Amino acid sequence: MTLDIRGLSKFYGTWQALKEIDLSVGESEFVCLLGPSGCGKTTLLRVVAGLESFEGGEMTLGGRDLATIGARDRGFGIVFQSYSLFPQMTAAQNIGYGLKLRKRPQAEISARVEELLALVGLEEFAGRLPWQLSGGQQQRVAIARALAVEPALLLLDEPLSALDARVRAGLRSEIRQMQKRLGIPTIMVTHDQEEALTMADKVVCMSAGRIEQIGSPADIYTRPATRFVADFVGSSTLLPEERAAGFGIVPPAGQSGRLFALRPEDVLVRPDATGPGRVRSITFLGNVSRVEIDWQGDVILAETHRLPDFTEGAPVTLSLQPGAGVWVAP
Ligand code: ATP
Repeated sequence: MTLDIRGLSKFYGTWQALKEIDLSVGESEFVCLLGPSGCGKTTLLRVVAGLESFEGGEMTLGGRDLATIGARDRGFGIVFQSYSLFPQMTAAQNIGYGLKLRKRPQAEISARVEELLALVGLEEFAGRLPWQLSGGQQQRVAIARALAVEPALLLLDEPLSALDARVRAGLRSEIRQMQKRLGIPTIMVTHDQEEALTMADKVVCMSAGRIEQIGSPADIYTRPATRFVADFVGSSTLLPEERAAGFGIVPPAGQSGRLFALRPEDVLVRPDATGPGRVRSITFLGNVSRVEIDWQGDVILAETHRLPDFTEGAPVTLSLQPGAGVWVAP
C-alpha cells in the first residue's frame, strides 16, 4: 500500500510548521525525513501517525483517506527516540502487549513474541525488565513491539539518537535488513545525514517546514538541488559564478544566479611554491584530513590523504576532479 501526502499544511496557532508537503511512500520503501532541528520532521511524522491534526491538503493510504481515522485505528507501528517501554513489563510482555490488547489467543501471542525476539536477536532476554537492558537492547524491544501487530506502516522517530556511535551503526544495518526482509513501508526521522544516506531508499530533505528535495541518497549527495541541501548533506564550498569561472567553469545557459557547490573530495591540493593558494588549516579526521585553502578571496574545502605532504601556511595549487561540482539554487 502506498502512503500519499498532497499539499499538506500544519499550523500551531498562527505558526506554520509544515508547508505544502507532497510526499509518497511506496510499498517496502524506507524513507528518511532529514533536516536540522525545528524543520518540522517530527511534526510530519506525528501527523502521519495521527497524533497531530493537519489543516490543508490530504493524506491517503492505499487510497483510503486517513484524515478521518484516529491514531489507534491506523494500525501503524511507532518507535520513539526515548525508550518508551512499559517499565513494569518484561521484554516479552512489552512485545506482546499490542496483541494482548487485540485479544489474540495466548498461544498465538507466545509464538509471535518468540519469533520477534529472534528477529531482533534478544531470545535470551525475554524475561528482563527494561531497566535490566542496555539502550540498544531496549530499542530493539521497542522495534519488535512496533512490528508485533504487523503494521501497515512503521514510523521511527530518531530511534538511534540516544545510543553510542558503535551501537548506533550496528542497529542501523540491523533495522535496514529487517525492514527489507519484512517489506514494511517505513518513515524514519533523523537529523543525522550519515544515517539517512546509509539507510534510506529515499531521502526527504526538509528545511523550515518545507521539503527542499526528495531523492535517492546518491541523488541528494551528488545532485543537491539547493544551497541548503548542498550545505546540510555533507560539506560543500559554494562559489558564485564569477569565482567558479576561475576554475574554468561556467553555468549552463539560462541558469545564471546559481551557486557552484563543490565537494571537498573533488578538490585536489598540490604543494606548489608559486601556487596562488595558502593552506589555512588542516584537520585530521582519521581516514582523511580536511583542509581549508585560502584561494583568491574564498575559502575552499578540500580532502587529502590523512597525512598530507604540506603544512598549514604552505603555498598550494588546486585542481578539480573531472565532473566535480554541481550548480544549485541560491
Ligand atoms: P528536532 O530534530 O529538534 O526534533 P524537528 O524537525 O523534528 O526538530 P518539530 O518538532 O517538527 O521539529 O518542530 C517544528 C517546529 O514546530 C518547531 O519550530 C517547533 O518549535 C514547532 N512546534 C512543535 N510542536 C509544537 C507545538 N505543540 N506547539 C507549537 N509549536 C510547536
